[in-house]
Amino acid sequence: MILPGAKSLRRIAVVGRGTAGSLAAASAAKLLPGDDLELHHIYDSRIPVIGVGEGSWPSLVQELHKLTDLPHETVQQRLKGTRKYGVAFEGWGRRNRDFTHFFTPQQVSYAYHLSADLLAELLHESTRARHIDAEVLDISRVEGGAQVEFRDLPPERYDLVFDARGFPKELHPEQHIDISFIPTNTAVIRRCPAVIGEDGDGPVLQHTYTRAVARPHGWIFVIPLTVHTSYGYIFNRDMSDLADVETDFSEFLEADGVSEFEQRAVIPFPNFVHRRIFDGAVARVGNAAAFMEPLEATAIVSAQLQIGMILHMRLNRPVENLERDAPTVNRFLIDTILRYGLFVGWHYSCGSRYDSRFWRHARERVWPRHRKAAAPEAVDCAALARFDEMIELLNRPVIDQEDWNRMCAVPLTSYAQMSQNLGC
Ligand SMILES: Cc1cc2nc3c(=O)[nH]c(=O)nc-3n(C[C@H](O)[C@H](O)[C@H](O)COP(=O)(O)OP(=O)(O)OC[C@H]3O[C@@H](n4cnc5c(N)ncnc54)[C@H](O)[C@@H]3O)c2cc1C
Repeated sequence: MILPGAKSLRRIAVVGRGTAGSLAAASAAKLLPGDDLELHHIYDSRIPVIGVGEGSWPSLVQELHKLTDLPHETVQQRLKGTRKYGVAFEGWGRRNRDFTHFFTPQQVSYAYHLSADLLAELLHESTRARHIDAEVLDISRVEGGAQVEFRDLPPERYDLVFDARGFPKELHPEQHIDISFIPTNTAVIRRCPAVIGEDGDGPVLQHTYTRAVARPHGWIFVIPLTVHTSYGYIFNRDMSDLADVETDFSEFLEADGVSEFEQRAVIPFPNFVHRRIFDGAVARVGNAAAFMEPLEATAIVSAQLQIGMILHMRLNRPVENLERDAPTVNRFLIDTILRYGLFVGWHYSCGSRYDSRFWRHARERVWPRHRKAAAPEAVDCAALARFDEMIELLNRPVIDQEDWNRMCAVPLTSYAQMSQNLGC
């Protein structure tokens, strides 16, 4: 098949070797096989990857099979993974409090709980690239491509550069949309013994769920892998003292019957979307492009979307159209990620079983900011209108069959499950 854009994609660089960079390099190598592509995978081995990111969406199962050419069972075992059928909420909202948000079709569609380090390793094995261990100082768009500047090497010019360098150091309003309607900004990570064991020689078939347990200072995720169980307390450091969070975390683990744990990290995080994810030659992906707290595990799936859209657009459209196409792709990506953000922020709108300072603040002060933060004049896209349409659909006495497959980043079935159970 002749791909009109392939001739303009001879040299690609991926900067960053975390989940996003590894996915980008594997995807580029897969879509442009053979000797026509010179792929450089650049990273600074002194800058660690974030290393969390163990929940996913079902599209990753197909994607990993495609990228590695390995059977699903092998992929799952290599990732020390379990099959995630949804998120089990405990103590959320004002109606059912304990309920599950299933992927659709329910009990059929599954994603992985996976080890982030092993995912990167698996992807590297199937990616043919030149590896460059060096610090990148700058990535900029230049005539006909992009230029990467290094600390100790001469600059290199590429047709396309994926910038997967992780979180920005700080947010600037002219560059980043601050999604300030998300009420959390810090995670404490602990690692505990596995509760799900390997099943003989095969992959674990048992249905598992990410637990999302409401707590006075925020919520705790519990992710079961076959090597360990990951726990993370997500909270707001401007509302709660770390020491109080650690104490509540320990009480929770004790009540959960967990007697030992390894303290892994305290990770502050921003909630934002970059205004320029893609400019035609530089593509920000992963945590460099956008981030929101991990309640619905939206980061890896967003990275998949960014990488897939950008590579397909560059390959399938003639390069002459690039100046017109790039802003359209950029707006589409911002719009979709903002929709994820609105979906996640909405989870807090009905509070939880705790009438604590954090939950009152989240419900009464933070969520109401979404109208201003996502207003079309502030974000240049229609994410808020599309989100409002989903809520309006849910409030109709009858939802017409033609609307059953509607999506606003996630399917209508996800909105319906959350709305029914949270009571909003
Ligand atoms: C608490 C928490 C829980 C999460 N849970 C989930 C989840 O369940 N599901 C999910 O999808 N996501 C989750 N995430 C998001 C997760 O972080 C991302 O999915 C994923 O790890 C993407 O990271 P990244 O590859 O963009 O960046 P990183 O992992 O930070 O990698 C950055 C890379 O860039 C390189 N680098 C940086 N600067 C330079 C430089 N100047 N020169 C050269 N190289 C450089 C580094 O060496 C590194 O290789 C979670 C995040 C947090 C904070």
